[in-house]
Amino acid sequence: MKRISILGSTGSIGTQTLEVIRFQNRTEEAFKAEEIEVSALAAGSNIELLYEQILEFHPKLVCVWSPQKAEELKKRLKKEGILPCPELQSGMEGLVSCATMPEISLVVTAVVGMIGLRPTIAAIEAGKDIALANKETLVTAGHLIMPLAKKRGVQILPVDSEHSAIFQCLNGESGNPVTKLLLTASGGPFRGKKKSDLGQVTVEDALRHPNWSMGKKITIDSATMVNKGLEVMEAHWLFGVAPDQIQVVVQPKSIIHSMVEFADGAVIAQLGTPDMKLPISYALFYPERKALPGERLDFWSLTEIAFEKPDLETFEGLLLAYEAAQTGGGLPTVFNAANERSVAMFLNREIGFLDILSVIRGAMDWYNKQTGENAEPDLDTILELEQETYDWIEGTYRRNQTL
Ligand code: NDP
Ligand code: MG
Repeated sequence: MKRISILGSTGSIGTQTLEVIRFQNRTEEAFKAEEIEVSALAAGSNIELLYEQILEFHPKLVCVWSPQKAEELKKRLKKEGILPCPELQSGMEGLVSCATMPEISLVVTAVVGMIGLRPTIAAIEAGKDIALANKETLVTAGHLIMPLAKKRGVQILPVDSEHSAIFQCLNGESGNPVTKLLLTASGGPFRGKKKSDLGQVTVEDALRHPNWSMGKKITIDSATMVNKGLEVMEAHWLFGVAPDQIQVVVQPKSIIHSMVEFADGAVIAQLGTPDMKLPISYALFYPERKALPGERLDFWSLTEIAFEKPDLETFEGLLLAYEAAQTGGGLPTVFNAANERSVAMFLNREIGFLDILSVIRGAMDWYNKQTGENAEPDLDTILELEQETYDWIEGTYRRNQTL
């Protein structure tokens, strides 16, 4: 039996992970066989949903980031006489406890942003396999995570649909030379628009993704195409392929989830309807493929699959991501931190849509000017650099904005 922990259980990936588990355990036999069990759940502050998840999945350990909310949840569980009552923890210590619980063998990292860094590293150090959704950890610390995973003999199983697709295409191809990774992109809600069309777009416009229903941060990242840039860096670390051998191909319907080109010219692709439950299930049960319900591709009604080149002038975030990936060192952290903060500012309606890119560009220029040697940072330096980037935004960027 496999026991797992889910960090970010109340989010888009977290709830879909629980859906997959609910489906697998649906029959009496499967439930009795306890094929997969949820030992720990962690979330930020949504204790309403966490309460429901505790009743259904009976985790032994639960972490709520906010200590006040953790206390509230504890009181509610006690008042309602919920048994067995899980142990409740909070903050980074709680996240790390969930990630390193002795009885688990796999951690689903479905928190959003760099907050996932410490628990992911702690989980790998404790020998746990990682079902990795939280791409920001690889973007900022791929140079630490991948060698550590190798050293500890743990698997990093991609949940991101494109990376799962590449992982599936590479199955059984060990040793065969790869010449190119073809990372597909839907192009997001603003595909076909020019910069001049995007000055006035609202938060609601940017949150309207054509194919995927996801958390707010990644939905905005898809609208700017920064998400694809983060995915280039994620693919670089996961598959050991240089950034200039990773090509982004716009494929608006999200039918082909990504492709691999080999040295003999063969291109292998993975196709399917856009449903995150497939890559989640593949990561949870790898190398087994479990049955999943849902729509199947109908090629007679599909008739064609169209491709486009990405518009790097309008979606400059993708270009900046390539620059960060190629330069390496601390620049991917600065790129990522500037994006995290500016997306939060946009969602808060403090800045406009195109300002997200000017914040990222400004932060990268600031970093490039003040950095002599651009060495690969250790974990503490990454976290310091994250804070310095936030300080630059709060100081220089905001001051210039009000001038
Ligand atoms: P959501 O915003 O939907 O969910 C984020 C989850 O993280 C929530 O459970 C949230 O809890 C939790 N969380 C946030 N802050 C903390 C914290 N400090 N401590 C503990 N838990 C916290 O995000 P998504 O599910 O969309 O994305 C998660 C990750 O997966 C991201 O890195 C994203 O890029 C990646 N990903 C997502 C895809 C998708 O389809 N959604 C596809 C591919 C990758 P609460 O609800 O309480 O705030
Ligand atoms: Mg993706």
